[in-house]
Amino acid sequence: MSARPAKASSKSAKPALPRRLLIANRGEIALRVARTARRLGLEVLGVFSSADAGLPHLRLCHRALELQGDPKRVYLDMHAVIDAARKLKADAVHPGYGFLSENGAFAAAVEDAGLLFVGPAPEQSAALGDKLAGRKAAQKAGVPTVPGTLEPLADPKEAARIAKEIGFPVLIKASAGGGGRGMRVVENEGQLAESIARAQSEAQAAFGDGRVFIEKYFSSVRHVEIQILGDGKGHAVSLGERDCSVQRRHQKLIEEAPTPGMPAAAAQQMGALAARLAASVNYRGAGTLEFLVPSGKDAQPGAFYFIEVNARLQVEHPVTELRTGLDLVEEQLRIAGGLGYSFDPDKLEWRGHSIEARVIAEDPYADFRPSLGKLETVHLPAGPGIRVDAWAEAGLEVSPHYDSLLAKVLAWGQTRDEAIARLAGALRETLIAPVATTAGFIAQVIEEEPFRSGAYDTSILAARKKAQGKAKPDEPLPAHAAVLAAADRLSRNGHAVVPELTYRGRPRTSWQAADRAEEG
Ligand code: ADP
Repeated sequence: MSARPAKASSKSAKPALPRRLLIANRGEIALRVARTARRLGLEVLGVFSSADAGLPHLRLCHRALELQGDPKRVYLDMHAVIDAARKLKADAVHPGYGFLSENGAFAAAVEDAGLLFVGPAPEQSAALGDKLAGRKAAQKAGVPTVPGTLEPLADPKEAARIAKEIGFPVLIKASAGGGGRGMRVVENEGQLAESIARAQSEAQAAFGDGRVFIEKYFSSVRHVEIQILGDGKGHAVSLGERDCSVQRRHQKLIEEAPTPGMPAAAAQQMGALAARLAASVNYRGAGTLEFLVPSGKDAQPGAFYFIEVNARLQVEHPVTELRTGLDLVEEQLRIAGGLGYSFDPDKLEWRGHSIEARVIAEDPYADFRPSLGKLETVHLPAGPGIRVDAWAEAGLEVSPHYDSLLAKVLAWGQTRDEAIARLAGALRETLIAPVATTAGFIAQVIEEEPFRSGAYDTSILAARKKAQGKAKPDEPLPAHAAVLAAADRLSRNGHAVVPELTYRGRPRTSWQAADRAEEG
């Protein structure tokens, strides 16, 4: 990588927005990027797999090319993507998130092809991209990291020594990990050797990289992250924090800002440290620095620990957009083109409260099992303070090959209560059938006391499930008339009623789950 000619920088000598942007992605993020690119007057270029020819983002593309090959793999085929960029005469590539977005080799190949990469420089992906590299960079910049190792684990004896030092429980984590995979909680020394071996082989299979390390496991913790922008010239700015503690399988389901209960001074300090770390590597573009804030019995006043960098735009970036009024894709494009930020970092203002719900094709009443199939009815909400980023449309297929995020429903309010009320209303209006989704479930969760109180942590959903285990089914909820009618029609056509819209709790879902289990 070091011998690469600096083609991209010679291109960007004269600051300007790119003119022809290839979006190397699909789904809602491709739509999201395309909308901003069109607004800024760029020519929008797309790619799609053979399974995706009907996807709505293609309607926003001026031109698009099919990526030939196995639909499961084509978006990851960097040569095919760059070849398409060349054929479409793109001058820049936006990777979206997922797929190739954090692959330094892809960024390098894009720049070697003489195109702008809308994201961090390849060497920054390498310096921060994996968790161990991020931990090292954080320590160097004076940012506190979760106690643990900075090098891959060599043998279980070393691991046992470190675990004793930091105290059980510990977490074995894959350095290349992502998506909540490659993590194992270890309660005592007896479990250590086997957990390491398993984590290593899991990581090798999932990421082609078996390196694992050890860190302190906090049983009670909040996930708080900082959105940053870096200009690539040694300056970075914090756009504030997001709390992403409502998770299932260590994966985010609801995100909000500001973090309830976190003193503004602590959030500011976290932001300042995140910006310092980003500036220390001359970070270019949008990125997120994730932190853990120990809570409950692990709480330590004012303490927070860096866990990793996501060197790309994140799913939950609109939470920050709603509070700052910024368009983060525009900022990405400006930074890539050498134009710098569109705003004065000293005059940045945050307003009100925003919350995002991830509407995912999963059955929340059956352990979040994937729910696949053709979408027949899609009704998405609207209204004051509501933002919906979605690709779901009637007639489209939710496929096992790709991420199952169908829509992001967000609400902004002048207060947290207002944002909760708006989001709950919007989610209750959301109708996606016949696949199961997380929409109605999230409406329930945000109206319940643990979330409302703001004093929750990453165990909120597990605790809810435990508490509900013994509860009787709840009463039906009066639902939106049109939604009920649609659900009724669907049910008469032999499809499942969308239970979360008509009932609070879990009544009919249990038989639905059983039906599906029998179908195998
Ligand atoms: P991934 O990259 O796979 O998403 P992360 O390191 O970002 O993994 O962690 C995902 C989630 O796992 C966190 O948001 C948090 O809920 C949990 N987690 C990670 N590290 C720890 C830890 N040391 N202690 C407790 N929970 C953790």
